[in-house]
Amino acid sequence: MGKLVIFSAPSGAGKTTIIHEIIKVKEFNLAFSISATTRKPRPGEKDGVDYYFLTVEEFKKKIENNEFVEWVEVYPGQYYGTLKSEIQRLWAMGKNVVFDVDVIGGLRIKSQYPDSSLSIFVKPPSIEELRRRLDKRGTETPENLEKRIERAKFELTLSDKFDVIIVNDDLQKAVEETKRVLREFLLN
Ligand code: ADP
Ligand code: 5GP
Repeated sequence: MGKLVIFSAPSGAGKTTIIHEIIKVKEFNLAFSISATTRKPRPGEKDGVDYYFLTVEEFKKKIENNEFVEWVEVYPGQYYGTLKSEIQRLWAMGKNVVFDVDVIGGLRIKSQYPDSSLSIFVKPPSIEELRRRLDKRGTETPENLEKRIERAKFELTLSDKFDVIIVNDDLQKAVEETKRVLREFLLN
């Protein structure tokens, strides 16, 4: 059974960017846990690579069948969840698993695997900067962007429940700090 590295953060804080960098470090032996979601793919996103894209009906069926380790309706009508089969798939490959999940999902995974997991909260320097990053990323309608900012304010209140907080102001520094923490957790 491999170790679990959980990344949670408000949308736009830079989780995906940081995860992309640390997955490249061969000695960490990390593989990305592909989540299920009911949101629509963004341009360039592929089913079975970025997410397993499901309809709400398909997602609810999997809830009924108890197929999730955790799931959350992160935004109204938009469900996200970690499939048990996904963790099994990556463990069968001998990998440590990295999760990109919302704050509630992150705390749920942590509580199910308290000893073999490390929970990391990626914090933006400020809400204003978060808004700038989301705006610049260009993936959200103005309405969705506001929903994400509102959710971010709530998520920030839970940051101190995580094992580690990484402030993502200067990206290079945040990546270095994350690598340092992971060397300690995965390689000792
Ligand atoms: P998340 O996965 O947390 O939603 P992303 O990794 O997609 O966030 O990052 C949101 C946007 O902010 C992206 O366009 C990314 O290139 C940019 N970004 C990430 N880290 C920084 C940083 N330290 N400074 C400025 N922009 C950043
Ligand atoms: P996005 O739509 O930007 O890809 O993700 C929106 C939010 O959903 C992010 O906070 C992301 O971490 C979270 N998320 C992605 N996958 C999962 C999951 O499997 N479970 C939970 N609880 N949240 C997830």
